[in-house]
This record gives sequence, structure tokens and C-alpha cells, in this order.
Amino acid sequence: MKIGIYPGSFDPITDGHIDIIKRSLQVIDKLYVCVSVNTQKNTLFTLEERIDMIENVLDLDHLNVEVCVNNTLTVKQAKRLKATHIIRGLRVLTDFEYEFQMTHANRVLDSEIDTLFLMTDNRYSFLSSSTVKEIARFGGELEPFLPPYVVTKLREKFPQKSV
Ligand code: ADP
Repeated sequence: MKIGIYPGSFDPITDGHIDIIKRSLQVIDKLYVCVSVNTQKNTLFTLEERIDMIENVLDLDHLNVEVCVNNTLTVKQAKRLKATHIIRGLRVLTDFEYEFQMTHANRVLDSEIDTLFLMTDNRYSFLSSSTVKEIARFGGELEPFLPPYVVTKLREKFPQKSV
């Protein structure tokens, strides 16, 4: 069985992340979606909120996906979960440099764990968690980018700006 780990902040999960999760399951058998605790980013949502949204929007009864917390190096977490692949999504070119550095660092740390990149669907190539937070802050339309449950949770963070 091929096991993958998909690390990220998921602050919040977007349709772009969901696309990568579903597509990765065509190549691997089981996926751990690992939510980062110690990122350098200041997250809008707490760890618990981010996990709650992921669990609510993924059909966990029918997908071989488990949600977990990542509070260590991704390669260490991968080893612990018996994962052989780190899954990452690629959007516009700007993702590339960062991902390139991370992949090489991870390879030095553990040469047995490989990184698998999936290119995003065109519809999501400019979509990021930061973008949807910015749209929410100014009361814009969120439905094209997020599952309804996440739209509700994000609107709760910016109640005065709701449209
Ligand atoms: P971080 O950048 O903190 O690792 P993110 O939650 O922003 O966490 O992203 C996690 C992964 O999902 C990254 O590989 C990122 O490139 C990918 N990703 C984010 N948004 C999209 C999108 N719209 N389409 C495809 N991949 C995406």
C-alpha cells in the first residue's frame, strides 16, 4: 500500500487543496492530511478550527484519508506514518522556488521519502488561503473558492464585512 502525507497550513482548506487531495488518491492508496502547528505563519484559524473544517468538507467515510497534526519535521512525520511520499500542489511559478528548496532539504534529511508534485487544476491556479482571507476581509464572494462549510466559518471571522 502506497501511503502519502500532504502537509500544509490549511488556513483554511480551499477547493485547490481538495483538488490535490482527490487527485493524489488516484496515485497513492492512503493519504494523511497533516495540519502544521509550528509554521512561521500567523494563522487566522486555530489548529482545532483548521482540522474541523478539513474533517467537515472531506467525505472521510469514502476517501482513504486521515487528518493529523504535524508538529515536527515533515520527513519525520512521514516516517512515523509509514508514508513514502510527500504530496505538494504546484500553482503559479512562484511556488516552484520554495518547493524546490524544501524538496532538496527533505531529500538530504531522508533520501527514502520522495516528494510528489501535482499541478493544480486551471480553475485553482491563483487560489490560495491568503487570497480567500483577503476576499473575506472585504466582504467579497467566497463561494467560487471554498466549500459552503468553510465559507460560513470564514464569514464568522469577518462578521461586519458579510455580503
Ligand atoms: P503551506 O504553504 O504552509 O505549506 P498551504 O496550506 O498554503 O500550506 O499549502 C499546502 C500545499 O497545498 C502546498 O503544496 C501548496 O502549494 C498547495 N496548494 C495550496 N493552494 C493550492 C491550489 N489552489 N492548488 C493547488 N495546490 C495548492
